[in-house]
Amino acid sequence: MHEWSLAEAVVETAIDFAKKKQLTKLTKIKIRVGELQQIEEDIFRYALSEILKLKGDFVKDTEIEIEEEEVVLKCRICGHVWTGKEIFNILGEDDKEAIHFLPEVAHTYTKCPSCGSTDFEIIKGRGLYIDSITGDKS
Ligand SMILES: [Zn+2]
Repeated sequence: MHEWSLAEAVVETAIDFAKKKQLTKLTKIKIRVGELQQIEEDIFRYALSEILKLKGDFVKDTEIEIEEEEVVLKCRICGHVWTGKEIFNILGEDDKEAIHFLPEVAHTYTKCPSCGSTDFEIIKGRGLYIDSITGDKS
C-alpha cells in the first residue's frame, strides 16, 4: 500500500509549498513517475483524490497530472547514455513486464550499447517527484 504513503507525501509537500508561495488555492499538481517506479497508477490517483478531500477548500479543485518519466541509463565505464526505449526494444513483452515490476532486474537484461559493460547507473526513470505546482494568488 505504498501508493497511499506516497500520495500523502505528495499532497503534504504540495500544500506546504503552495502556502509558502502564499497561494490562496492549489489548482494543479504535476507529478512525474519513473518508468521503473513500482506504482499502481489507479490506486495512486484514488489515494490522491481521497487525501485531497480531507484537506479542505484550499485543494477543492486541484487537478492531478501524472507524467511517466523515461528511463535513462549511464555507463560507468565509457560514459555512454542511453534510454529505456533502447532496452525495451530489444526485449520481448514478458521481459519488459519483468523490468517494470523489478527495477533491479534491469541489470540482468541490459548492457551498455557502446562498450558492452554491465556497470551502469540509472540516472532517470526511478522514483517519483513533484514536477510543478500551480495555484491562484489573490
Ligand atoms: Zn559503456
